[in-house]
Amino acid sequence: MTKLDLVIKNATVIDGTGAEGYISDVGIKDGKIAKIGNGLEAEKTIDASGLILTPGFIDSHSHSDKSLITFPDLAEKLEQGITFSIGGMCGSSYTPIEVNGRLESVEEFFSKFEGISFGSGTAIVVGHNTIRRAVMGTVNRLATPEELEKMKTLLRDSLRAGAIGMSFGLFYTPGCYSSIEECIELARVVSEEGGLLTSHIRGEADNLLESVEEYLKIIKASGCRAVFSHHKSAEKQNWGKVKESIAMIDRAIAEGYDIYLDVYPYTASSTTLLARFLPKKYHPEGTTRPVELLRNPETHKIIYDGEYARWGNDISWTIVTGYNGHPEYEGLTVNEIAEREGKADNLEMAFEIIRQTEGTARGCFFTMCEEDVEYVISHPRAMICTDSSVACGKRQFHPRLRASFIRALAKYTRDRGIVSLPEMIRKMTSLPAHVYGLGTKGVIREGMDADICIFNYERLRDVADYKTPTLYNEGLEYVLVNGKVVVENNRHNLVKQAKLYKKIR
Ligand SMILES: [Zn+2]
Repeated sequence: MTKLDLVIKNATVIDGTGAEGYISDVGIKDGKIAKIGNGLEAEKTIDASGLILTPGFIDSHSHSDKSLITFPDLAEKLEQGITFSIGGMCGSSYTPIEVNGRLESVEEFFSKFEGISFGSGTAIVVGHNTIRRAVMGTVNRLATPEELEKMKTLLRDSLRAGAIGMSFGLFYTPGCYSSIEECIELARVVSEEGGLLTSHIRGEADNLLESVEEYLKIIKASGCRAVFSHHKSAEKQNWGKVKESIAMIDRAIAEGYDIYLDVYPYTASSTTLLARFLPKKYHPEGTTRPVELLRNPETHKIIYDGEYARWGNDISWTIVTGYNGHPEYEGLTVNEIAEREGKADNLEMAFEIIRQTEGTARGCFFTMCEEDVEYVISHPRAMICTDSSVACGKRQFHPRLRASFIRALAKYTRDRGIVSLPEMIRKMTSLPAHVYGLGTKGVIREGMDADICIFNYERLRDVADYKTPTLYNEGLEYVLVNGKVVVENNRHNLVKQAKLYKKIR
């Protein structure tokens, strides 16, 4: 037989399909898994005795596209075993956007990256908010028929250029200003082009169930394959509602709709303080910059009173992770920052941070419970995700960015036993490969791409936490992308082996 480039010896292979592990050698040739069996030989070998070998993990919901230009190593992806990501989620994609005063199309975006390599593979969905912003800015109003037609054309062009689908971010501006009719019209274009839909739904707190209902209507009207993004029930009074929301989704699946979920294994979410404390209900018609509402005494009072009624003065459940101009406060709770500033009003401190940063300040928000996280993870159609880009040199971020996949394995599989190890691996590999149509990925089988993780299951540990999110994982011995070793002993070696994925229609 032909000479192999590399043989991984005596690995416990968990192939990604959900099947139990077996001990074997895995031979690699020209970036592919060429041979699986015992007694394989090559000049280069890796001894994987006592280690688990799986397909490379697929980050089912990410923002990787935003870092392709500036941080193409995508190091924090690889360092948790992610060899492929789907970027452009939550309604917000890097493309199509204005570059130097003109709209750069998705087609141009793809041609810019032709021949360029990245640490981890990336596919993109285009964001509804990105498209709406390109056509009509960020104004709070319904689209005119002409604007809707423009959005549909831009969306169709984006899909034909190689995007795999569209993401909604109906919680965020300007998607939160759209009607269900607009969403359905766009979803039908996605369906015509053979794409799929994902959605950060309109609300995940008090309005969770009506938001699930709305997205189900959009899915049913379009017939698209669809994903509920980072499914959760936020804020204490809503804990447990994921049982109801998932029952609604299960009923639609039983009716024949092709629906999935993704989830990150943490009880804190992460977004801007602006999105958290100034939801759409406070935005009068015509609003283009919600941050200005906090500078107008009249609207400030309405928002203050409304948010005070929700939270009172204690918002110690908010850790500020991104605070332009005040890096010394990053990693502290809003309460701690207020104390250092000598302010007694914590909510007003949060508003001050929003104003000072023009709404860019980010935080982690402890608004979920463990039981709900475990319930969502255990659903057979739930995939694991980071919901993140890469750190881009920042010191403070949500630890999911560095450790989601390792935590799902160490905490939720090994320590808590929420699902079996082969089942958790399936949620990270063949399931997202199926959902996103990645035919050569997600399974250890002869002929598939040699994207591979090798780890010590007993030693696997996510070390990053909310105070020190930069800490490296433990127990991830090797990661291979297209047959090349890119991570050894938890650290990326700067080899870039992956390409931007373009869907050919
Ligand atoms: Zn989101």
